[in-house]
Amino acid sequence: MYDTIIIGAGPAGLTSALYLLRANKKVLVLEAKCYGGQIINASKIANYPAIESISGFEFADNLYNQVKKLGLKINYETVIRISEDKTVITNKNEYKAKTIIIATGASNRKLNIDKEEQFIGKGVSYCATCDGNFYKDKIVAINGGGNTALLDAIYLSNLAKKVYLIHRRDEFRGEDIYLEELKKLNNIEFVLNSHIISLNGNDRLESITIKDNLENIKNINVDGLFIAIGQEPKNLIFSNIVDIDENGYIKSDGVRTKTPLIYVAGDTRVKFLRQLTTAVADGSIAATTALKEMKNIKE
Ligand code: NAP
Repeated sequence: MYDTIIIGAGPAGLTSALYLLRANKKVLVLEAKCYGGQIINASKIANYPAIESISGFEFADNLYNQVKKLGLKINYETVIRISEDKTVITNKNEYKAKTIIIATGASNRKLNIDKEEQFIGKGVSYCATCDGNFYKDKIVAINGGGNTALLDAIYLSNLAKKVYLIHRRDEFRGEDIYLEELKKLNNIEFVLNSHIISLNGNDRLESITIKDNLENIKNINVDGLFIAIGQEPKNLIFSNIVDIDENGYIKSDGVRTKTPLIYVAGDTRVKFLRQLTTAVADGSIAATTALKEMKNIKE
């Protein structure tokens, strides 16, 4: 029996683990892919207090190593279900816990167009910092208008010969400070009010077809396409124990779900601001709440 099982090893989940391990609790972290969560995709973090600039990967690595030193136990398994008696069922095992923290974050949103899956690793990527190096002196496109897309464009402009930034509107969701930086770069071309309607090529991506708001269609030859159109949570597997909103996020009262002793932290819950700062805040609050409330459990 674990004191707490944490599902997800992103910033929220690992921060929960940090607090619980420091309180000498028996903790298991379950992670389907690799530790770090979505933040590993951020080429630069410049809005985390007291850290002027750090890459997302370095941040995740630092946090992981910090928690590892406290004795972190992390199993790489996919959670399939949580039962009402707080048994966590994975693709490999079943574990029981007094408390559970769901910190599953969100996955990259897909364009859902033909050949997108087929071209992953063959021209299509969701992570500029992971795959950018393959495109030195090549032509790339980025799709999206949030901070991820803007930072990807800045990052890739240092590697690639030419960068197209394709966005479905003419206003950006990302911060002005990044947009201003982008406008100063001479190898960036903005393609606004436009959608990608097809990915073309035989064995790998060779070009993309764009349609603008006036229905004009054009082809752009590219070696790589970085899709940065946000994230989506995957919480349906938890619908027996938590309430989920129309966008798939878990409804909560702070970090408390509708089921006592099951908490939610980070991007996967309904919240106003999904940032690193709010993810780690959630992680610490969920852990501290679990610590307080597990004291009242009658053995
Ligand atoms: P985001 O802010 O949700 O932006 C997603 C972008 O993709 C939006 O511009 C959206 O367009 C567009 N989009 C969504 N669905 C689309 C579709 N089907 N086809 C075409 N375009 C589509 O996502 P994000 O940029 O990944 O950022 C997620 C969160 O992390 C944000 O809170 C962001 O501030 C934060 N973040 C922070 C940093 C940092 O500070 N260092 C770095 C990265 C991310 P519309 O605008 O038209 O809706």
